[in-house]
Amino acid sequence: MDSREQADDEPTLEGGYDPEAVESRWQQRWIDADVYAYDGDEKRDPNTVYSIDTPPPTVSGSLHMGHLYGSTLQDFAARFQRMHDGDVLFPFGYDDNGIASERLTESELDIRHQDYERREFQERCREVCAEYEAEFTEKMQNLGTSIDWNNTYKTIEPRVQRVSQLSFLDLHEKGREYRKKAPAIWCPDCETAISQVEMEDDERGSHFNDIAFELVGEDAPRDEFVISTTRPELIPACVSVFVHPDDEENQDLVGETARIPIFGHEVPIIEDERVDMEKGSGVVMCCTFGDQNDIEWYQAHDLPLRVAIDESATMTELAGDYEGMSTEEAREAIVEDLDDEGSLRDRWEITHAVQVHERCDTAVEYRVSKQWYVEILDHKEEYLEAGREMDWYPEKMFARYQHWIEGLEWDWLISRQRDSGIPFPVWYCADCDQPIMAEREALPVDPLSDDPPVDTCPDCGHDEFEAEEDVFDTWATSSLTPLINAGWDWDADAEQFTMDSPELYPFDLRPQGHDIISFWLFHTIVKCYEHTGEVPFDATMINGHVLDENREKMSKSRGNVVEPDEVLADYPVDAVRFWAASAAVGDDFPYQEKDLTAGEKLLRKLWNASKLVDTLAPADPDAPAELEAIDRWLLAELDDAVADLTAHLENYEFAKARDRLRTFFWNTFCDDYLEIAKTREDNPSTQYALRTAHRTFLELWAPFLPHVTEEIWQAVYVDETAALEDSSIHVRDWPAPQGYEADLEAGETAMEVISALRRSKSENQLPLNADLESVAVYGPIEGFEDAIRNVMHVEDLTVLADQPEITTAVAAIDLDYSTLGPEYGSKVGDIDAGIETGDYEIDEDAGVLRVAGEELGADLFEVEYERTYSGTGEMLETESAVVILE
Ligand SMILES: [Zn+2]
Ligand SMILES: [Zn+2]
Repeated sequence: MDSREQADDEPTLEGGYDPEAVESRWQQRWIDADVYAYDGDEKRDPNTVYSIDTPPPTVSGSLHMGHLYGSTLQDFAARFQRMHDGDVLFPFGYDDNGIASERLTESELDIRHQDYERREFQERCREVCAEYEAEFTEKMQNLGTSIDWNNTYKTIEPRVQRVSQLSFLDLHEKGREYRKKAPAIWCPDCETAISQVEMEDDERGSHFNDIAFELVGEDAPRDEFVISTTRPELIPACVSVFVHPDDEENQDLVGETARIPIFGHEVPIIEDERVDMEKGSGVVMCCTFGDQNDIEWYQAHDLPLRVAIDESATMTELAGDYEGMSTEEAREAIVEDLDDEGSLRDRWEITHAVQVHERCDTAVEYRVSKQWYVEILDHKEEYLEAGREMDWYPEKMFARYQHWIEGLEWDWLISRQRDSGIPFPVWYCADCDQPIMAEREALPVDPLSDDPPVDTCPDCGHDEFEAEEDVFDTWATSSLTPLINAGWDWDADAEQFTMDSPELYPFDLRPQGHDIISFWLFHTIVKCYEHTGEVPFDATMINGHVLDENREKMSKSRGNVVEPDEVLADYPVDAVRFWAASAAVGDDFPYQEKDLTAGEKLLRKLWNASKLVDTLAPADPDAPAELEAIDRWLLAELDDAVADLTAHLENYEFAKARDRLRTFFWNTFCDDYLEIAKTREDNPSTQYALRTAHRTFLELWAPFLPHVTEEIWQAVYVDETAALEDSSIHVRDWPAPQGYEADLEAGETAMEVISALRRSKSENQLPLNADLESVAVYGPIEGFEDAIRNVMHVEDLTVLADQPEITTAVAAIDLDYSTLGPEYGSKVGDIDAGIETGDYEIDEDAGVLRVAGEELGADLFEVEYERTYSGTGEMLETESAVVILE
């Protein structure tokens, strides 16, 4: 057996740290031993359970840096809380229905959903998703996060379908849903209605076209007028022309009739205040439908529908010669024909914001169709209030939630004309269209294959029904994750909703990215609030995005995407986690190799320090009767660090916690204390302090660096027969301050003095245990005199009551020439000369420098001082002490 094989097997401090072998070994063992399992059957106390509503990744591709970063932050919180308070639910789910996974399936198999029977297409989706999920799970497990892999769900699984359909029925019963035939936002590429949140602005190039419309009738006040449009392909769909009531120039048109060029149909000219007079000629056409204004006019003025564009953005019969063309083709063809006909008066290029579907970047259309909506516009205030009740980390993210709600214009459209989703549990009477809801007990149902719960329509008595063919919007289900995780269900006997694990709800934390505040967070609050009357989360932690090294957004088109696989091939997971803790939560931050390298160095430092501690102290030394000052000081400092770290981690301040711990561990413990400990071999006080600190450091690092801390913990402190679920460092209690008292300032000053003396010895090539005859210290070191004497082998240590004679002389004066030059011009030479020859005066009270007959303000110069000691011996200065070495 070679040493490497041995390292693969048993934790040991021998040799160097081998993260490759160690990390995968622990990842597997943690899963095998269910170290992170949440036992929902045991009676849990809601006050100590910490539940996280983790974001189920959309199955649309592979794991990216955003997943890695987000789940690592969640894991910091989960690991800290598990040690701090005990029971943590850290579940995992996949969002594997809806347009994203359908589009993935289409591109992966090179098929179109329209070409398949629904069931068959759904099968294809399940297969593709299953493959992606298996790969994703493996990659997630390779990150070593403390997810409970027994607590997982898929949004398409029957249990979740039941929850989702129950939600639909409950909202319907509560009067929070309606079905309506009305204009809706439509994606012609996905061929479905979509909701407001799925639209985003995209800057695109286009043309403004000035088109002349003729007026009809002999009495018309003029022959024609001009309208400007970016969408000439909509002229066959034109139903009216609008003029603003304040538009004096065009007032004569109101009440007249316009004839549409090429197509020849006639439309009324109406006045309406919604016209933007600043745009083009001030006269606009209203079509079925170019934008939201068109919809408002259509509704307000009871205009007819002229549908020239079908569900796939192809021109309809109404478009005459242009029938069958795509909207883009028709746009060009119509412009050309308008030009031939003499109706095109001008055309120029512009760029403007186009509203597109965020899944496919296709420009949206508006179509009249029958859709299901969740009523939300009337509860905006409630949802805002619910947002205010949560703690936001960082606080500033609440503003995004607020802006989204304030900008809401549409109720939430939840029906999708797609295949792979959760079906509506609804049938309609074939005669009177009365909706027939499924019974709660029967859920989940698929109305396409299941029968309705009635034989005849309760309204008209008709006995034929039509199944609802639409499926739910994917967010209609993923917005239920707190209820899914808590096991929400309908209890038919008790006739009420229940939860399997009521102690989980409301959840302690909703972690997620800032890009889905309007999608996931908002809709979850809507659903859970309407169902339970409660805000579903105590707190939400909103993480930023990972940028590239130049702080640019990562994107395939820029070619600057960093893949987690590449990173993990080069760096240990623990080092990647060290980097993930480098930014304040909520800030976008760059992927930087220097942070990973720093992380790697830290792992080595922790490893080597552990080996050193192992040579200096037995694993479990007895507590000494009394600790010596220097050792008590270390443990008091440790208490201080524990208190700080606990507060930081409770507030999701991972970067502050990491930096505080690193500085204390590296500078105070490794650089100072361990060096001292080396000179105090076999001292029981030091041995006890060393071990206490070492155990505590491992515990404090555990949430950040779970692999290396487990390896060292198991190698040093755990009997090999212990069961991992009990012996893992990750199930230990989070350290609490032990109440060690010491004058921290005096200890820190003593530490500075010791460091200064150690440096001096090594600069003078003296061994560290060389005797120093006489050392005098001016500074607060009370109580640590013996420590300095012992550690640095000082024969005679004096504490000075007064500062030693130190003369301060000006070493140099730095001038700010960038301001001095423009202000003093040719005088600068004289100023320089004055300083050179010492012919100047510094007036410290006035903060000015008098030289060459001028008086320079404080912003123009900086004085460097040199301090010299004129007594006997050598002076060493530290931050808070002066040391005289004789
Ligand atoms: Zn689309
Ligand atoms: Zn009926």
